[in-house]
Amino acid sequence: MKKLLAVILSVLIFCAVLPFSASAAEKAEGPANVILMIGDGMGWNHLELAKQERVKSLYMEDACDARGWSMTRSQNKVVTDSAAGGTALSSGVRTNNRYVAVYHYDPLGWFRVPRTLSEAALLSGRRSGVITTDTTDGATPASFTAHTTDRSNSADITRQQEKSDFDLIWGGAVAAFSASRAQKNGFSVVTTLDEMQALQPGSRSFGQFDYDMMWRTKVAEGSTAPTLSQMTEKAISLLDGDDGFFLMVEGAHIDKWSHTSNEPDNYDTKVANAAEAVEEFDKAIRVAAEFAKKDGNTLVVITADHETGGLKIIDGKYTYTSDSHTGVDVPVIVFGSKDFIGKDEQIENRQVAQRIGAYMGMGELFPKAVPGKLFWAYAGVRDWFLTLISR
Ligand SMILES: [Zn+2]
Repeated sequence: MKKLLAVILSVLIFCAVLPFSASAAEKAEGPANVILMIGDGMGWNHLELAKQERVKSLYMEDACDARGWSMTRSQNKVVTDSAAGGTALSSGVRTNNRYVAVYHYDPLGWFRVPRTLSEAALLSGRRSGVITTDTTDGATPASFTAHTTDRSNSADITRQQEKSDFDLIWGGAVAAFSASRAQKNGFSVVTTLDEMQALQPGSRSFGQFDYDMMWRTKVAEGSTAPTLSQMTEKAISLLDGDDGFFLMVEGAHIDKWSHTSNEPDNYDTKVANAAEAVEEFDKAIRVAAEFAKKDGNTLVVITADHETGGLKIIDGKYTYTSDSHTGVDVPVIVFGSKDFIGKDEQIENRQVAQRIGAYMGMGELFPKAVPGKLFWAYAGVRDWFLTLISR
């Protein structure tokens, strides 16, 4: 009798375990997740600067599965800005500096615009979001969520984001943002760390946080802003599900601090803050990479849109030689795939996006040119005419 009970018990336990292992196997075969992490302005020497000034080692270097180089030039300049650099990484095409996800030959997007990875992800049935320490209308998040002629078109970028179907758009607060317009389109609007943490899966959200505080490695006293690593962790928990997701994470302040003056009265602050921004970006990378390891079906790609500051070794120390962008090649660091990029392989920035599209099995969806404004104007007139004659 005892033996029979033991057998029945074993069968029951086996059956209870079975569905879990089956669903785990299904998950691994489902749509792949991709987390693309952009260290704005981050050259290889920024990692060295951070190690010289602030940390013993960096997770992104020590734990990664592969690493190579990205050549960052834009269509019209040897040195790209964040708009053209972001467009290469979002859309797989090179465009002119200042242009945001539009072709260099059609800057107003009249005829055609390139589809972004974030948009393609939505079309493939995935969830899709962007998070940044920059304001939400910054050139990098804008390159994934809007199409416009100039990166300074804040109202246009913000209006497109408010009207979009993205699951989350989080960053520093923007003057042109309208909470009521965003809410009308189904977004929950969050402005503090606590509000962000309270968001539930299935909700779509727009984050407008305290820009001056969110780049730091920990939440400063009195600050209500989340850090980049807190945003990354929460965003992943909201986006993760059976449908797969695409998330763009930008550490914007590596660039921002590297742009400040090299004059002696500012230099130490500049170095300390840039190193802290690299450290916080690395913490966010650890969050993403540890999720990827556990999940088994997530690719994490870390790169930069360009280098900022011309960091070089002078007298044995990593030192800024410029307060602007340079054209040097930047890192491509990968977790979750050993063959996304070959060892020390050098690829064009737009190939990063093209390879991500291929990894996600986008096929015809990406890269892709989609009809521009003239088509939508024509479609509007045609629909109006059809309604008129059908009366
Ligand atoms: Zn910059």
